[in-house]
Amino acid sequence: MSETAENMVLVINSGSSSIKYQLLDPDSGVVAASGMVERIGEDEGGLEHRVDGETTERREPIADHAAGLRLVFDTFAATGHDLVREGVRAVGHRVVHGGEVFYRPTLIDDDVVASISELAALAPLHNPANVAGIESARALLPGVPQVAVFDTAFFHGLPAAAKTYAIDAKVAAAHGIRKYGFHGTSHEYVSGRAAELLGRDPAELNQIVFHLGNGASASAIRGGRPVDTSMGLTPLEGLVMGTRSGDLDPGIVAHLARSAHLDIDRIDALLNRDSGIKGLSGVNDFRELRRLIASGDEAARLAYDVYIHRLRRYLGAYLIELGGVDAITFTAGVGENSPQVRADALAGLSRFGIEVDPVANTAESRAARFISPSGAPVAVLVVPTNEELAIARAARQLVERRG
Ligand code: ADP
Repeated sequence: MSETAENMVLVINSGSSSIKYQLLDPDSGVVAASGMVERIGEDEGGLEHRVDGETTERREPIADHAAGLRLVFDTFAATGHDLVREGVRAVGHRVVHGGEVFYRPTLIDDDVVASISELAALAPLHNPANVAGIESARALLPGVPQVAVFDTAFFHGLPAAAKTYAIDAKVAAAHGIRKYGFHGTSHEYVSGRAAELLGRDPAELNQIVFHLGNGASASAIRGGRPVDTSMGLTPLEGLVMGTRSGDLDPGIVAHLARSAHLDIDRIDALLNRDSGIKGLSGVNDFRELRRLIASGDEAARLAYDVYIHRLRRYLGAYLIELGGVDAITFTAGVGENSPQVRADALAGLSRFGIEVDPVANTAESRAARFISPSGAPVAVLVVPTNEELAIARAARQLVERRG
C-alpha cells in the first residue's frame, strides 16, 4: 500500500445519479485510488473502486448520495486507506455552474453551499447533485477543508461581445442570461499543457482547444485568456455532442411546442438526451458510431458528417476571431482517441498553415504529443485532459494560501 492519504486530495465529481472520485497526490499526479458509484436512487446500484490495478466491485441499491459516499469510504477503508482516520489534505469538488458569483476555486462554508444551491435555476441537472456530494463529504470529513472548483470559472472574463446574447437586455439581466461556458477546468489545463509542450509562454500564444467527449466544447484562447467558447448559458450550445444537439435555430423550440405539442420539459429532454449523435444515428458512443459507419449505415454517416461540419464551423470562426492560431489541441474521449475525427476536422487547411501528419496522428500513444509535421506553422496536438489533477492542484493551492 502506498503512503498515507493525509497529503493527498480527494476529488469528487458528483452527478445526478453517480459519484466519480479520485484520491491523488497533487504534486506528482499519482492516483492512489479511483472509482465511481453508479445508479444512485435506482433498484440496482453499484460501485467500482480501483487501487493498484485491482478493482473492487459492489452491487447493491444506493439510496442517495450520502449512502453512496459512505460506501466509497467503507471501500477505501477495506482496501487500505481509512480516510477518516488518516485525513486528507483537502477535498476538491467539481461544481458545474458558478454563475456570476464564483470565478475562482472557493473554500466551502454554509454560505457557499447556499449560493451553489441558488444557482440551480441555471443548472437544474447539475448543481443540486454537486451540492449533494459536497454535503455528504462535509458530513464524513468535518475537519477537512473542502474546495469548490467551477466548470464555468475559466470563462468568467469572456469579452462582452462574445458573452452577450442579442435578446432584450432587461430580460437577459433579470434572468442571468449570458454565455458562461463549461469544461473550463479542462480548457485551462489543456491549453497550459500545450504551451508547456511548445516551450512557450501562454501569454504569447493564440490557441484553439477542442474538448470532445460525450459533452463537447471548443474554446479560443488568446494569451492564456479565453476570448470565446462554444457552450453557453447551459452546456447545450455549440458542437454536436453524444446526446445534445448543440446549436439550433431557437425557433425550433417554439415550433415543437406549437406543432408537436411538447411541453418545455419534454423539449429540454429531447435536446439534451435524445439529440446529437444519438438522435441522428441511434447510438451515442463514438466507437459504436464508427462501427455502424463501417457497416454502411447511412444515418451514422450523416451523424458523423454533421459532427465534423460543426467542428469546422467553430474552427473557422475562432481562427478569424483570434486573427491566426499557434496551436490547435484535441482532448477528451473522442479528441484523444479518434485520429479520424482529428484528420477530418483539419483536412484541406494547409493554406492556413494547418496540417496533420498521418503517421503521428495514428500512432498508438496515450501521451501528450504533436500530430502536426515538424516545422508546421500551426502546432496540432493531442493532450489527455486531467480535470481531477487540475481540481486537486487548485484545492491544495487554496488550502496552502490559507496557511
Ligand atoms: P465524458 O464527457 O463523459 O467525460 P469522455 O471524455 O470519456 O466523456 O468521452 C467519451 C466518448 O469518447 C465516447 O463517445 C467514447 O465512444 C469516445 N471514445 C472513447 N475511446 C474511444 C476510441 N478509442 N475511439 C473513439 N472514440 C472513443
